[in-house]
Amino acid sequence: MAVLDRVPDPEIPVLSITDLGIVRGIRGNRVLITPTYTGCPATLAIEQLIRDALDAAGFADAFVERQLFPPWTTDWISERGRERLKAYGIAPPSPSATAECPLCGSTDTVEVSRFGSTPCKAQWRCKACLEPFDRFKCH
Ligand SMILES: [Zn+2]
Repeated sequence: MAVLDRVPDPEIPVLSITDLGIVRGIRGNRVLITPTYTGCPATLAIEQLIRDALDAAGFADAFVERQLFPPWTTDWISERGRERLKAYGIAPPSPSATAECPLCGSTDTVEVSRFGSTPCKAQWRCKACLEPFDRFKCH
């Protein structure tokens, strides 16, 4: 787990794959991972990063295995992951209808588009500081 904790998410490198909740556990020599969503283009890149990290740490006999059920949910993003997202300028996922601006903390914000820099994020704008920001979508 210490090795996996240092593997960055390729799309949001301030997050590790354990922050994102992708790593579901280790069973024997199998590392179980659940992709963030079906068809996420980062999945193959993540699996390769894990493979490289395991090999570099001397775990060449470990396997990376996809576990598709239960499906990944933003609820699996750790508290540390949420803090890192916010510090990076991305509003963490929340069921709230309003997003808190990660730059100034205002909740006077508006969604501009359902899609931001990646399909898993929406584009928002803060009416207080006028800055645009991404918000991780809940799912
Ligand atoms: Zn703001």
